[in-house]
Amino acid sequence: MNCIFCKIIKKQVTSDIIFENERIIVFKDIEPIAPVHLLIVPKKHILSINQLEDEDKELIGEMFLIAREVSKQEKVDKNGYRLIFNVGEDAGQTVDHLHLHLIGGKKLPWA
Ligand code: AMP
Ligand code: ZN
Repeated sequence: MNCIFCKIIKKQVTSDIIFENERIIVFKDIEPIAPVHLLIVPKKHILSINQLEDEDKELIGEMFLIAREVSKQEKVDKNGYRLIFNVGEDAGQTVDHLHLHLIGGKKLPWA
């Protein structure tokens, strides 16, 4: 499968990994839009929120708990940060492997 995030997960493509467990990996976005820009990515290849299944309930929950932890690690927990899932074309989703953006380190404009 020609998926860039699957390749990162398999370490076929290098990335700046800041957290990893059996189910989830977190790495720095290659084109950051803020001083802190991380991608929280399940190792299971799910295309987007649209393709989530009931069995993914715990996995999604864990992604948010890891977001909380890495926000502390990157020291944006106190000032705040934004969590975003882009879904489909109108949202500008460019990688068809589910990922949660964690963005912070500056005041973020809304829309
Ligand atoms: P989205 O637009 O929500 O699909 O976000 C995809 C994100 O993946 C973009 O912010 C890209 O900069 C990022 N990205 C694409 N390729 C890589 C890569 N090889 N390593 C790290 N981030 C990447
Ligand atoms: Zn994938």
